[in-house]
Parts: sequence; C-alpha cells; structure tokens
Amino acid sequence: MISENLAEVRQEIIRHADIAGRNPNEITLIAVSKTKPAEMVVEAFEAGQTVFGENKVQEMCEKHETLSELPLSWHLIGHLQSNKAKKAVAVADMIHSVDSVSLAETINKYAAQIGKVQDILLEINVAEEESKFGLTLADAEAAVREIAKLPNIRLRGFMTVAPYTENAEENRGIFRSLRQLMVDINAKSIDNIFMDVLSMGMSGDYGVAVEEGATHVRVGTFIFGRRNYNI
Ligand SMILES: *Cc1c(COP(=O)(O)O)cnc(C)c1O
Repeated sequence: MISENLAEVRQEIIRHADIAGRNPNEITLIAVSKTKPAEMVVEAFEAGQTVFGENKVQEMCEKHETLSELPLSWHLIGHLQSNKAKKAVAVADMIHSVDSVSLAETINKYAAQIGKVQDILLEINVAEEESKFGLTLADAEAAVREIAKLPNIRLRGFMTVAPYTENAEENRGIFRSLRQLMVDINAKSIDNIFMDVLSMGMSGDYGVAVEEGATHVRVGTFIFGRRNYNI
C-alpha cells in the first residue's frame, strides 16, 4: 500500500509540475510519518523514500535512533519549544517551524555547540488563523533581518500550514502569497540571505502548492493512511 501511495504522490507531483512548467526534480516529497510506527517508515524507505517529517521532537529522535542504520533525512515540521531545541538540532536536517527570532537564537546557540549550521524555515501564518503558529506576512521581513545575523543558522525559506479545506483551489492564493514574500525579500539583497525553499502543501492541496512554487511538500495521510490520535 505505502509503495503504491508513494508512487501516486510522485506521479501527481510530476503532473502538477508539468502544468506549471517546472522541473519536478526541484520538488522534495517529505513523507510525514508522525504517529506511525518505524516499520512503516522502513516500508516507505524500501519504496525509495528517504526524507521524513515529524511534528514532535521526541518522536523524531526515537525514530532516528531506531532507524539509525538507514540513510534517512529527518525534517521537524511541528511547533518547537525552546527547551527541546537542543534535541531538535542534534537530529533534524531542516527545522520548518521557526516562528520567532528568539527561537532562532536558541537554535543558533545549540547548533554552534556542535559545530553545525542548521537549515531552518520561518513559519508564516499567511491566513492569520488564531489556531496556528507562525509570523504574519507583515512581520516576516523584520524577523529575516534579525535571523540573518546568526552565524549557525541558514535561513532557507518559508513554511506555511494552509487552512484545512476540501477544495485545494481555495489555498492557491495563500501559496502564491508565500512565494511572493520570498521573491520580495530576496530582492532586498539582505546580507547572508538567499532563500530557495518553500515548504507548502499537504495531502489535500500539495498539487496546487506545486503549481504555485512549493519546493517541499509535506504529505502524511495520503501515504500512510489516516492517523489515530487516541492510541
Ligand atoms: C501532519 C502535518 C502534515 C501532513 O498532513 P496530511 O494532511 O496528513 O498530509 C503536514 N504539515 C504539518 C506541519 C503537519 O503537522
């Protein structure tokens, strides 16, 4: 099942990239394995998937440890509290969910301790939903200018979690705004800043996100099936 689902998502990424005249090789599929057992990660790996997303530091670290023999890349996509930043930095290839300058400073400190330059994304709450984390579009530039000064952080771009919808088209404007934000800030030639990553699109809307410039899509349910949070 997982291998068929992965094949279908990869096909869809290619199809939507084609529609937008983009090279599908520029798009990284992140298989979101949160709440799912390590065995399912292995199954996905055997089907050629190497990049995985987790939303909790603890769970990411456990799977990383259990599967340390496999050449996997772990991305932290969920909210990060500063008291867990040290563990996150030890394992994550990219932290997508940085939502404040102070969190970036904490990550910078721990990255410096282990001689790492940590790839991060700034999370933007484009739709300004109360229930979601992230900076507003209006606050992004000031944060970028501060983060640019941190030597052990490489700010690669932006991430957003778009509103839940049955109709992916409704999120097209959100994805477009995030891409425009990156284009606009890159055009300001801020020292140390050149962003090339847009993490946007989930099971319900990754096709539209690809059409609007996503370089990383985060797909869980469609690959691994529905999550049961009660177990
Ligand atoms: C769970 C999660 C996803 C994957 O969502 P699906 O709808 O299952 O594809 C993507 N991004 C974030 C931040 C998540 O927490």
